[in-house]
Amino acid sequence: MANTFSFYNTLSRKVEEFVPEVPGKVSMYTCGPTVYHFAHIGNIRTYIMQDVLIKALEYSGYEVKRVMNITDVGHLASDADTGEDKMVAGAKREHKTVMEIAKFYTDAFFKDFDAVGNKRPDITEPATNCIPEFIHMIEVLLEKGFAYVAGGNVYFDTGKLDNYYVFSSEVEKEQLQVGVRDDVEEDLNKKNKTDFVLWFTKSKFEDQALKWDSPWGVGYPGWHIECSCISMKHLGNTIDIHCGGVDNIFPHHTNEIAQSESYLGSTWCKYWFHSNHLNDRAGKMSKSKGAVLTVSVLKEKGYDPLAYRFFCLQSHYRKPLEFSFEALDNVTGAFNKLINKIAELKEGGEVDAKAKEKYEGEFRDAVANDLNTSMAITVLYDVLKADMNDATKLALVESFDRVLSLDLIGHAKALSEGPKVDSELEAYILDAIDRRAKAKKEKDFATADAIRDELLSKGVEIKDTREGVKWQLI
Ligand code: AMP
Ligand code: ZN
Repeated sequence: MANTFSFYNTLSRKVEEFVPEVPGKVSMYTCGPTVYHFAHIGNIRTYIMQDVLIKALEYSGYEVKRVMNITDVGHLASDADTGEDKMVAGAKREHKTVMEIAKFYTDAFFKDFDAVGNKRPDITEPATNCIPEFIHMIEVLLEKGFAYVAGGNVYFDTGKLDNYYVFSSEVEKEQLQVGVRDDVEEDLNKKNKTDFVLWFTKSKFEDQALKWDSPWGVGYPGWHIECSCISMKHLGNTIDIHCGGVDNIFPHHTNEIAQSESYLGSTWCKYWFHSNHLNDRAGKMSKSKGAVLTVSVLKEKGYDPLAYRFFCLQSHYRKPLEFSFEALDNVTGAFNKLINKIAELKEGGEVDAKAKEKYEGEFRDAVANDLNTSMAITVLYDVLKADMNDATKLALVESFDRVLSLDLIGHAKALSEGPKVDSELEAYILDAIDRRAKAKKEKDFATADAIRDELLSKGVEIKDTREGVKWQLI
């Protein structure tokens, strides 16, 4: 039996007890990345919090099936269907084809996604795989009178809905209406300002690289249609939870609901989980702003990607989080101290089942209460401080890490075993020793000394012995 689990549902605007359609089983859809650029650490925050949601549900006894799309076509520079396709712009910027861009940035995305301890979705589907499904849904929407053709494009007719702004209060609705009116590039084909494109044809964007045949001419899909179709393709006509960042609420998720429920004639998804943004001092992090700070860049700078995850877990997913290197340095210090404490625990001995159950209950309550990750971490610290034997503490650390995914035991073991030399570092050291030997042979002692210093700065000490040059990590 699964335990009770609550989180904030953007649709009902309150923290609600989660009740899936099939007891114990959760079908989940998450909007994937638009692969025209690197995913920045803000995007990765969103995927970390979704990962925690999945693992917290699993910790509470649920079985989760998760599907994610990869947006490799149709996402225009503005979410309101204006501007250039982001993928086409990416391809132009890098003098590559759209498919090359998609492959490169999908791989880069998953490298960073994995590095922060996330579990891969059960199914990942690129939008370009599902054109027949998109065309089918658009045909049904046209048949049912929810869509119309104008100027070569197919539009969704939001005027046909009684409640288009499903997520918004009356005040928010008014603000959004003003926002939509202010959109600079007005599309005169639209019957209503909020109508959105389901299918573009070549009549509008001549330079679109990927095009497909359709009943409305050669063209390509709008952005929103992919999530409805990919979700239904793999999870059926209803899903329990739909996830995304807060910027997805309007227009993307609003439009997903409009088209899905008009197509189905019934409710599509009951629970909507949105995590807030990561900002830097200049404001919201954004891919389109140019230079992006990625998890890989953090790694190159010497940060542990899991320390970044720890940073994210310490604040609540519904609050904006401000990133700075200073803050990450502080969290890295705290993370290392935590690992040190765990490394001091001795293996062996008997686990106190009662104490374990008590703390597991506290941890589960924290994550099942609108994903209170900072409270969950407090429970971890409580365990380390508690009057319990080491075996029980280690068992609890392992148990909590099923959700936290900070590789706590692995880090602690590595610390106890001392620094490890990976093959890349070893190759570098051997090469440096060779270069130094050559310099010495040529009587270039300045270079030889510089190489010794270079190694020292990387924590490697070398000694000249009778058996040759020996090195060690210091
Ligand atoms: P995109 O690749 O732009 O479609 O975004 C991928 C995911 O990252 C989406 O779910 C967005 O809502 C989310 N996202 C975009 N910007 C940020 C940010 N600054 N902080 C956190 N999440 C973000
Ligand atoms: Zn989506």
